[in-house]
Amino acid sequence: MDNPVPAGFFLPNRFVHITIAALKEVVGSGAMKAICHHAGLPDLDATPPPDDMNSDFPSENFSKLFAALNDVMGMRGGRSLSIRAGRTTMRMSGIHFGTNPLPVTPSAPITDPDVLLIRLNRLSNFLNSISDMRTLVCKREGQAGFEFHIRQCPNCYTQVAHESICAFFEGFIDQAVRDFTYSESFTVTETECLAAGGQSCLYFITALTNAEQNK
Ligand SMILES: [Zn+2]
Repeated sequence: MDNPVPAGFFLPNRFVHITIAALKEVVGSGAMKAICHHAGLPDLDATPPPDDMNSDFPSENFSKLFAALNDVMGMRGGRSLSIRAGRTTMRMSGIHFGTNPLPVTPSAPITDPDVLLIRLNRLSNFLNSISDMRTLVCKREGQAGFEFHIRQCPNCYTQVAHESICAFFEGFIDQAVRDFTYSESFTVTETECLAAGGQSCLYFITALTNAEQNK
């Protein structure tokens, strides 16, 4: 029997549904129309994927959307909007996917790195289980902070660039770290990107010093 497996990588509709809502909130509805049009996905704005867990949305189209954001807004503007869209997507995902770690906000921040590592691992496993993304969190001996790797990254899929371009996941992970620690005690930076020849899209999560936090 003919049962073709579609080529490429996919994301669950709900993740894309949330991302599109987040992006629209950040850029405004006029710019959103222009970005979808530029991406060659003119219907995406009016008819986003349904809010379900079917893994139907091609990573290729997700990547096209963010490439179009950079084209329409310029690299610098696109970068800061991508970070904000990533943050908003994480905030909305916590509600839609029920991944918020605790139902009530504790009165004190949780800055124990071991607790953060466990929660980031949970997020990583969750992303791996719902999508074709392959993510990994690790702590290397002798190195401060954690590494968050994304392979089969939908944000830069098939793109080539001179520098890191996956600011969307920088915002997404940064918001996750804030949500998981109830603090702003850590910083997240993309140091490698698949699009720029890296082995993975790599994010460093490091604790801020007290002086940096008070800036
Ligand atoms: Zn990437």
